[in-house]
Formats: sequence, C-alpha cells, structure tokens
Amino acid sequence: MRATKAIIHLDRFCRNIQEVRKKIGPKPRICVPVKADAYGHGAVRIARMALETGAACLAVAAVSEGAELREAGIRAPILLLSLPLPDELPEVVSLGLIPLVSDKDFIRQAARAAQTAGKTLELHLKIDTGMGRLGCSPEEAPGLAGLIAREKYLVLGGTATHLAAADSSAPEDRAYTQKQLARFREGVEGIRRAGFDPGIVHAANSGGVVFHEDSRLDMVRPGILLYGYSPGPGTVEVTPVMEFLTRVVFLKKVKKGETLSYGRTWTAPRDTVIATLPAGYADGLPRALSGKFPVTIRGERYPLVGRICMDQCLADLGPDPRIRRWEEVTVFGPGSLTAADMAAVLGTIPYEITCNINKRVPRVYQGSASIGEI
Ligand SMILES: *Cc1c(COP(=O)(O)O)cnc(C)c1O
Repeated sequence: MRATKAIIHLDRFCRNIQEVRKKIGPKPRICVPVKADAYGHGAVRIARMALETGAACLAVAAVSEGAELREAGIRAPILLLSLPLPDELPEVVSLGLIPLVSDKDFIRQAARAAQTAGKTLELHLKIDTGMGRLGCSPEEAPGLAGLIAREKYLVLGGTATHLAAADSSAPEDRAYTQKQLARFREGVEGIRRAGFDPGIVHAANSGGVVFHEDSRLDMVRPGILLYGYSPGPGTVEVTPVMEFLTRVVFLKKVKKGETLSYGRTWTAPRDTVIATLPAGYADGLPRALSGKFPVTIRGERYPLVGRICMDQCLADLGPDPRIRRWEEVTVFGPGSLTAADMAAVLGTIPYEITCNINKRVPRVYQGSASIGEI
C-alpha cells in the first residue's frame, strides 16, 4: 500500500456517537451527516458503523452521495440537505432520498416526479430562521405544510432548521441561536395550529448538541463532533477519527546555503538532513502550509520546509537525526498535531482539512468491531 494513507478509527467514531448519546439523553434520534464522503472518512463505512451504533438516519448533500449509499445496500432514511435540480428529482424519488424543501414551486415539481414514478416521496420542510441559505419563513411554513398534505404522493416527514452560530460561545451568538430556536418553534407551532403534523422536528448541528440543550428536539444532526472535533470546549469528550500518515521515502544531506523545492523559498541555515515525504497538496496537504507546519516522527516534531509540491514535501530533520529511511510520519493524528491545529494555521476549520484528503489517499479502517448499540 501507498506510504501516504488515512487511518480511520471506527471504534473512535462509535465512541463519539456514544458520547453524543450520553449528552443528549435517550430520546432524540441521531442523524449522521455523511456528506462529502463522510467529511473525508468514507461515506459507506461510516454510514454502516453509524447505523450499527444506533443512528436513525443519514444525511448527504448531493444526490450522487445518496446513490452511493443505496448502491452499497444501505436502506436507512437519507436526508438530502442541499437542493437538487428539478431534473434530479426522478433519481431522488427512485433512491428514496428525503429532500429538504423550502418553496411551493419545488414542492410541486417534487409531487410531479413522485406521481410519475407512482411512488410516495417523503419530504422535510426547511424553515430559515437566520442561516440565510435555504428555507421558508416561519410564517410560510403552515401554508407549505398544507400544500404537501394536499399532494397525494408527498408526505411531510419532518421539519428542520439550521443554526448559523451554535458553535460559538460569544454571548451575542448564543442570543442569536436562541432567537433562531424561538423562530423555529413559531414555525413548527404554526404547522400544528393549522392542523398538520410537522413530523420529526430537528435543528441541532454539533454546536447545538454541545452548547444548546433546547435545540435537540426530536433529532440531532452532529457532523464534525462525531468525526472527533468539538466546536468548542464543551462537555462532549470526542476523539479525532482520522489520522493522516506518510513515510520517509528518501533522506539526503543538504549543505548550508543550498535551496530546496519550487521557487527556492527555503535556504538551509546550516548543514542538515532532509526527509522527502510522498504527500503533497494533491493528497490534501495544503500548499499554504509550506514552511508553517511540523510533522511528527517517533514523537518528535520536524518542520516542513520549502514549498509543498503536488505529490511530495520535505521535512528538516536537523544535522544529526535519529530518524531512518522508511519510518512512519504523522501529518496529523494522535500524539501529534491535529487537523484542527492544521486548520488554525491556515485560518480555516478542521472540516475543510479532512474533506480535502483526496481519493488517492487510501483509507485504512481500524477498530471496526462494533462496540454495540447505543
Ligand atoms: C453539514 C450539516 C450539518 C452538520 O454540521 P456540523 O457542524 O458538522 O455538526 C447539520 N445540518 C446541516 C443542514 C448541514 O448542512
């Protein structure tokens, strides 16, 4: 196998689900977002593990992601979080995905696609309470629920909203989340008062689970938390699921004053030994980290020096290294810096780091024995 690989610790993923379960209590269902190939962890394996551990449903962003899960034989409910194009609706219907809908026009098109297929389509109504992406206003919700109820081939299975700042502990963001939840309750109550069943009511992402007890409702949708990154110092103890490894494939002595890699951005300040690592930006090691991030070998940190290339990068081991050729290198993972540390250097979030570990990096699954239902 290739030197550069991502170890996916399924046992940790299970434990993270159990930690979430402990936090939210027995009642709310757990929906596991497996969009973007389960944040880079591998959608099918993660989905199977999630369902074995007691998750009630899955969520994807693209119809193709739902298709991949169905082709793998997964029959659990799958929410489609992003809006597909109308011409994708026949596939949504045939795969039995559950789209989140926000408007009359789309609901009517969904009804037509379902009728054409002669198959009932479950929908969730999305209410925009302050995220500003998709969703109807709380005031429009009862009317849209009514429209869905009148369509013979549609059924309203749930009502959802999405929180914009639930991961923040700043008082004004906390207040904003409370306002969003209040708006959401208005929308849901409106649906009930109009005589319709809102179905499963859900709002909480990871931030909601960790910081907002009243966002848990009938179901929670924590993503990043289950992959092992807490949105803040909270009370849910989670462990990163992915570990990104490579190996030393080449060692060379470099003289003081020699330059390395494209653009000659690094000049050896002293005689030293350089390790060549077969991981680059095409593997998801961002080029912007050039010269700004250390890797870990046998528990010691070594800086990446020079430009990170498409397929390779270089680490400075110092003049007198203990490290030998072929040794394992941790780019991020336990005992080393994490994807969150890497994200912080780049001014981004760990989501973007794990999502971008690319297809040519083999995923190696460990700890797959289920540790039981939650
Ligand atoms: C991605 C997503 C989530 C999960 O968000 P995390 O921040 O990873 O917990 C939940 N709900 C919706 C609608 C999403 O798009």
